[in-house]
Amino acid sequence: MAWDFSTEPEFQEQLDWVDRFCREEVEPLELVFPFAVRMRDPKMKALVDPLKAQVKEKGLWAIFLDKDLGGPGFGQLKLALINEIIGRYGIAPSIFGCQAPDTGNMEILAAYGTEEQKERWLYPLLNQEIWSAYSMTEPQGGSDPNLFTTVAVRDGDEWVINGEKWFTSAGRYSDIIFVMCTNGIFIVPRATPGLEIMDEPRTHDHIIYRDVRVPLDHLLGPEDGAKVLAQRRLGGGRIHHAMRAIAQCRRAFDMMCERALSRESHGKVIAEHQMVQSAIADSYAEINMLRLLVLWTAWTIDNSSTQASRTQIAACKYTAAKVLREVAYRAIHIYGSLGVTNLTPLQAMWAAAPTMSVMDGVDEVHKVTVARDVLKNYRPHEGLWPSEYFPAKREEARKKFAQAMSDDPDLIIYADRMAARAGGHG
Ligand SMILES: Cc1cc2nc3c(=O)[nH]c(=O)nc-3n(C[C@H](O)[C@H](O)[C@H](O)COP(=O)(O)OP(=O)(O)OC[C@H]3O[C@@H](n4cnc5c(N)ncnc54)[C@H](O)[C@@H]3O)c2cc1C
Repeated sequence: MAWDFSTEPEFQEQLDWVDRFCREEVEPLELVFPFAVRMRDPKMKALVDPLKAQVKEKGLWAIFLDKDLGGPGFGQLKLALINEIIGRYGIAPSIFGCQAPDTGNMEILAAYGTEEQKERWLYPLLNQEIWSAYSMTEPQGGSDPNLFTTVAVRDGDEWVINGEKWFTSAGRYSDIIFVMCTNGIFIVPRATPGLEIMDEPRTHDHIIYRDVRVPLDHLLGPEDGAKVLAQRRLGGGRIHHAMRAIAQCRRAFDMMCERALSRESHGKVIAEHQMVQSAIADSYAEINMLRLLVLWTAWTIDNSSTQASRTQIAACKYTAAKVLREVAYRAIHIYGSLGVTNLTPLQAMWAAAPTMSVMDGVDEVHKVTVARDVLKNYRPHEGLWPSEYFPAKREEARKKFAQAMSDDPDLIIYADRMAARAGGHG
């Protein structure tokens, strides 16, 4: 019997260490120096690097990668259990070497890069000696890749890239940018002439590529392989975000429960008011439904592939955003006026819900994927009535008793009477 919801004791020990380390080391750093993980300043690095060293020592660095690429090779299920903890803390993924967009970029480099490309970019990325960004979305439309126009044209020993990209996360902090062109994905060093980063937006950059020249070996994977690589890249990223969304939901839930037990109104602690209990009960059930969906998906990836799990990954993507939205809203509401300030993490969690719905492809597109994939397993019914139409089904079922009824005509009378009694409800 393989359905098992328990965690091996040895791995539980690692989870306990991650939990303790995050509470005792990561959270204090995040509260006092929230941007330190993305700074090159030696004083900040002196605070961050020892924490990364501890993670490496524990064999938990780059937890999303297989052993041959320098990760622990945990697979997705174990990764999910770790992400459920580290997802509580914004900077923890950087401390554990699993920060997007580097993670997705490493995955496609590992899968499609030449040995030379891996030497040059994958291993430095893995060690976080360099940072990367991913330029896919364009200002005129993000959901439909057929609208993208950025193109690379071959000119002698070089590719010349022209186009405009929008919402390249951490673009200005990166060393290299993976640029999706209509004819392939190219790795472009950020300092390349012709690459211009607009002033706004600040975090998710708007970048103009004007006659940007890169050598031929900066094409990643096959020419015209952009869509295949992009799918591969985003599939993994989406499930990782969903794993970390569980952590955010749990944090909001913990906050909600603590507050509900701490405040009084109309003669009782607010946890005793039934509508507050309803908010807690719904949140509890929704978080666990999301969690089971995500863990099942992670397990499916481990036992098949990301591609074979795409329906489940898509379902995780929009469900995570929805559960986060509902739970964060309820927590804010139970916090009352304090909930609407930015003095607790709740406002950021609430804002993260619509962000999650848009990033990595808008929810609608993923719902279409799920509906289409699911419908492939169904056929229209023949004739006028659906296959669960009782009168037709019963008529068919009677054939099974044809011999018995012919031997004993009383059975026909019984069957007719029961059918008449069942009537419309069968
Ligand atoms: C926090 C964040 C980080 C991001 N980081 C990156 C990054 O690093 N690199 C990168 O390239 N991009 C990045 N993006 C961009 C992201 O991938 C796009 O925002 C996303 O693909 C949607 O594209 P869009 O914003 O152009 O919205 P649009 O495509 O214009 O969609 C807007 C709305 O139109 C409707 N819609 C669109 N298509 C459909 C459809 N098929 N069916 C029904 N309704 C539809 C939906 O209501 C949708 O929300 C990031 C986005 C966010 C929010």
